[in-house]
Amino acid sequence: MPLYDFHCTKCDNEFRGLVRPQDPPVTCPSCQSTAVEKLLSGFALHTEERHRAAVADSRKRQITKNKDKLVAEEEYRKEHEGH
Ligand SMILES: [Zn+2]
Repeated sequence: MPLYDFHCTKCDNEFRGLVRPQDPPVTCPSCQSTAVEKLLSGFALHTEERHRAAVADSRKRQITKNKDKLVAEEEYRKEHEGH
């Protein structure tokens, strides 16, 4: 979906809007001005990627934690089997 961030040069409002070829020019929802500039969504993308990385990282940590638990249980079992 062609979703873009816009900045209104008239009232300094920032908003997000859909841009489709058949749509009329994007207007600022706050002052109805068409003096808006399209912002590169680099920041949003960056945040998204960082979020994804954080999720992956926490998932990895979760696996490590579970593995540690399994190892501990295994060691406990071995230790008590010997006796
Ligand atoms: Zn505006």
